[in-house]
Amino acid sequence: MPCIASRSRPLLLRGALSTFRRRCGKPSCRCANGAPHESLALSFTEAGRTKILTLSASELAEVAAAIERYQRRASSGT
Ligand SMILES: [Zn+2]
Repeated sequence: MPCIASRSRPLLLRGALSTFRRRCGKPSCRCANGAPHESLALSFTEAGRTKILTLSASELAEVAAAIERYQRRASSGT
């Protein structure tokens, strides 16, 4: 199972979290009535190409913290 958190243990991560909305296609699901599923994903640039990685809840916490650390360091100017 691909897992960015266990793969590289990012302390600092340059990327952005985005929310994706989709419909799973099941006619009985709530998304069929106009409430699409929302999932969080990380978009980042690697070797000049933008990549999208969907995140599980456990990955999200670590990734969000890593992005915040990166942004805090970037804005501190040192
Ligand atoms: Zn659905």
